[in-house]
Amino acid sequence: MANNIDITRKVKAVALDFDGVITNLNIDWNDAIRQASEIVGHDIKSLITFYENCFGTPIFQKVSNEMEKIELSAVEKAQAAPFVKDVLQKLSEKQVEAYIVSMQSLNVIKTFLDQHELAAYFKDIITRERCPGKKAQVECIAKITGISPNQILLVDDSKRNISNCKELGVVCFYFQRKQKPKEIREAWNNILSIIK
Ligand SMILES: [Mg+2]
Repeated sequence: MANNIDITRKVKAVALDFDGVITNLNIDWNDAIRQASEIVGHDIKSLITFYENCFGTPIFQKVSNEMEKIELSAVEKAQAAPFVKDVLQKLSEKQVEAYIVSMQSLNVIKTFLDQHELAAYFKDIITRERCPGKKAQVECIAKITGISPNQILLVDDSKRNISNCKELGVVCFYFQRKQKPKEIREAWNNILSIIK
């Protein structure tokens, strides 16, 4: 997928997806969806769609709590993706604010960041409890910071998220999941080159 890199305006904030960008969680999502379906009492096709449709309801909370248990056990063994700390350090030197936008829970992200001493690099963490969708999460950053969407760079491994967020005018970088270290380094170098 082509990245819509139009460097006409300075990027002021970077919104990083969590699973697939900052780390790779080893979760059997089919099994997780099966468990979620049992709680709800009917078949769920997509957790993301479920979260979006049921946001703010007791059943959302119930499913979210159960999914959090699965996510927390995966986080225990999860490593930070290669070069992530270096990149966050560079962003901080360039005075570009870094955010996490994730459909995991806040507790899951905080646990991971504490384990890997990365918490200090992030200005804010926007998770499913706050906005149940990537587009809404990126919009939330624009709203709270006053930064225009076309000065926000989203890095995400989901083509669906990228295409939704492009509608906002956000600069998007499609980050391929599980690349070779050499390719990951190239991807991060490309990301850093977007941020002058
Ligand atoms: Mg992801």
